[in-house]
This record gives sequence, C-alpha cells and structure tokens, in this order.
Amino acid sequence: MGNAANKEANGSGTENKPTVVFVLGGPGSGKGTQCANIVKQYGYTHLSAGDLLRAEISSGSENGNMIQNMIKEGKIVPSEVTVKLLQKAMQESGNDKFLIDGFPRNEENRAAFENVTKIEPKFVLFFDCHEEEMERRLLNRNQGREDDNIETIRKRFKVFLESSLPVVEYYEAKGKVRKIEAVKPVEEVFEAVKAIFDPEREKVAA
Ligand code: UDP
Ligand code: MG
Repeated sequence: MGNAANKEANGSGTENKPTVVFVLGGPGSGKGTQCANIVKQYGYTHLSAGDLLRAEISSGSENGNMIQNMIKEGKIVPSEVTVKLLQKAMQESGNDKFLIDGFPRNEENRAAFENVTKIEPKFVLFFDCHEEEMERRLLNRNQGREDDNIETIRKRFKVFLESSLPVVEYYEAKGKVRKIEAVKPVEEVFEAVKAIFDPEREKVAA
C-alpha cells in the first residue's frame, strides 16, 4: 500500500501534514550533536530553534536586540517570534520531515506551535542528562556562545527545570516521549537513538 493510502486507512488525518519530531533535553544534553547524526541516516531536516534565533540576531532584524538580550539571560523568546522562524524554515526546506531541536521550551511555545501549524509531533525525543555533565560539556565546547558562561548556564538550567520539563511531562502523559540516556559517549547515545528511529521507519514502510 502506498504511503498516502496507508495514512488514509489509518484514519490518522495527517495527509499533507509534515512529520515533526521535537528534540528536547537540557542545555548541553547533546540534542544538536545527535540531530546531525539523525539527519545523515534518516533524511530529516534539522531545525534548531536556538540557531534560528541566533541567525535572526546576525541578520540585523529589528527583533535582534531583544532576542540577544533574552539569550544572554537564558530567557525564553516570545513564541510569536520563534514559531514564525520555524514555520518559515519548514516552508523553505522543501522537506516534509523535521527535527525541531530545543523547542517547545514552555507551555506557551507548545500551544502556539500547535495552534498556528496544526501539527502535533509524531513523538518527542528526550535526552536525559544530569546537570553536572551538561555543565561540563557547555563549559568545554568553546563555540563562542555568549550564553555558555557559568552564570547564564545556571539560569538556563533553572528555566529548563521550571518551564521546559513540564512540556516533556505533557507529552509523557500522551505516551509520546522516547527517553534517551544521554550521559554516554556520542556513538553509544546514537545507538539508542537508532533504536527509536528504526522501528518508526518500519511502521511507515509497512
Ligand atoms: N531560545 C528560546 N526559544 C527557543 C530556543 C532557544 O528562547 O525555542 C533561546 C533561549 O534563551 C536559550 C537560547 O536560545 O537559552 C539557546 O538555545 P539553544 O537551544 O541553542 O541552546 P541549548 O539548550 O541547545 O544549549
Ligand atoms: Mg543546541
């Protein structure tokens, strides 16, 4: 059975809607690194909300200053801005499968994305990592990011616990969370990631 016909038979009502996987986890949990691996193997387009916001700052947009200040403070940029950037990137990609990395970061982000795009994630890939390890990685990665200093890192951890984890819990209650133990070398973590994506691919092909 063809893909479209298969979807219809499932009654999933998702015809023409892109596939979205939200990739969540604390700062430094390995989202970006593993997304790059997933892109190579599974043909998704990787959209990092943080990267889109940083590109918006570099482009000299009128929101640039506001975004830069919020990132420096580890705060969450208003949903309107982020959802628009994500939507535009999805449209421009020409793909229909997306890893949305580092978003939604709070309940408002989540509701705004679903209301505007009418897309629900296929599942949520959640990288579980303790703070000590995340802090070590962030302080060692030297990507020249203004928010990778100990003061901002502590703020980001607090925002993650208070605002972002509730989003993971929301999807957990819907049975959509696929949790990955992220305190391991990159290759080992990717083995666990593949164990999630391979069965998903078989389900689509079946
Ligand atoms: N950010 C935001 N909304 C988003 C994604 C990122 O406001 O949807 C801001 C926020 O200030 C965050 C920063 O961008 O602390 C860096 O996000 P990124 O995802 O790049 O960092 P990570 O958590 O992956 O280290
Ligand atoms: Mg990242």
